Amino acid sequence: MRSLTDKYNVAGPRYTSYPTVPYWDTTTFTMNKWKDSLLKAFEESNEVEGLSLYIHLPFCESLCTFCGCHKRITKQHSVEIPYINALIKEWDLYCDLLPSRPKIKELHLGGGTPTFFSS
Ligand code: SF4
Repeated sequence: MRSLTDKYNVAGPRYTSYPTVPYWDTTTFTMNKWKDSLLKAFEESNEVEGLSLYIHLPFCESLCTFCGCHKRITKQHSVEIPYINALIKEWDLYCDLLPSRPKIKELHLGGGTPTFFSS
């Protein structure tokens, strides 16, 4: 047990922001830096073990008082299809930038409440 707590007792990035906080400085971060970073990560991972893909699904029907996530509170499920269409469009943008077909090793869904969406 002690080895597990030692292993995970390290500072790590929160997955609830995108892009992650270190990249929020718009005075130093550029589109080309983002593309270089994306291609570098792709080349390091895709052929070796495949990519881990995170999809943020930001909708919740009610607000938890402790929430620090990027979310939108709504009971309007009409947002589902436009949001999924926007994700597909974004995925197409990524695929256009990448030099070869991505191999997806893992798919992570977060939010928000991923189960807000119908199957
Ligand atoms: S994102 Fe999570 S913590 Fe925040 S309101 Fe939704 S369910 Fe609650």
